[in-house]
Amino acid sequence: MAANAIEIRGLTKIYGGGRNSPEKRALQGIDLDIPQGSVFGLLGPNGAGKSTLINILAGLVIKTAGRVTIWGFDQDHNPRQSRASIGVMPQELNLDPFFTPREALEVQAGLYGVPRRQRRSDEILRMVGLEDKAGAYARTLSGGMRRRLLLGKALVHHPHVLVLDEPTAGVDIELRQMLWENVRKLNQQGMTIILTTHYLEEAEEMCDEIAIINLGQLVARDSTVNLLRRLDSRTMILHPDGPVGRLPEGEGLDVTQRGDGALVIRYRSAETPAEAVLAAVRAAGICIRDVKTEQADLQDVFLELTRRR
Ligand code: ADP
Ligand code: MG
Repeated sequence: MAANAIEIRGLTKIYGGGRNSPEKRALQGIDLDIPQGSVFGLLGPNGAGKSTLINILAGLVIKTAGRVTIWGFDQDHNPRQSRASIGVMPQELNLDPFFTPREALEVQAGLYGVPRRQRRSDEILRMVGLEDKAGAYARTLSGGMRRRLLLGKALVHHPHVLVLDEPTAGVDIELRQMLWENVRKLNQQGMTIILTTHYLEEAEEMCDEIAIINLGQLVARDSTVNLLRRLDSRTMILHPDGPVGRLPEGEGLDVTQRGDGALVIRYRSAETPAEAVLAAVRAAGICIRDVKTEQADLQDVFLELTRRR
């Protein structure tokens, strides 16, 4: 069994609670293991606690309770080693406006104690496509360029684990592709990747494993494949070969007719074989001109898991 890049136990974060700020329970006892070498997706609706969790990993937010181990180093007992093992590209575009990209990378490398001869600012600038902007002030960079620089900053100390918090929220297609190419390349080189994203297709495509959090609690944690398998709901869309007298009926079938005359039949494949659906259609005297089926995707799993409050 592969070792874990990250181990989280009973992680709890309560913001505020002082005289002027009401208490906000952002994380409520999260237990989570993230295997080495994976591309791991952390999903959840806005306000679920994703950034709080990530910022605790990054050492930017102080946890209220619980244990965090990064690359085998307990965050409380070995803060330096655990911090050196992880690089974080934050959600906020927080850059010093007076540094150029090259300076920003050098300063970051200095903060992490990377010796001068081990620094590779030029390589990183090339990788994130900022070699032309190496000497430009950060305040003159576009939003997309700032995001690339933040990715570069997360990489200066050669971390084992790279964390990206909503890296593609509101970025153009070109930058999104560049980010995913880099993520794939780094993962192939052995880096463990953790990312949060709003785009479920993206998680479906990129992530081996997924955790879903809602209201500060873990509601699912599985391989992407298993998570998708969990929902066996199917939708069959039938175009009848003429007007429909009565709708098909049958146990476990949810049948509606669309404005264009097509019948939309929802069923669970584990309970109702497709043949039984078709038999019900024939029994209603309907001839089928065309048929299409749709499977549940991550969007459905996500909605089902985060719907209950
Ligand atoms: P996500 O990244 O999943 O959208 P966050 O971790 O940013 O969620 O926020 C989780 C919850 O904690 C939200 O209700 C948010 O309003 C609250 N929260 C986040 N940061 C702070 C803070 N600095 N002070 C008080 N509440 C906060
Ligand atoms: Mg967030």
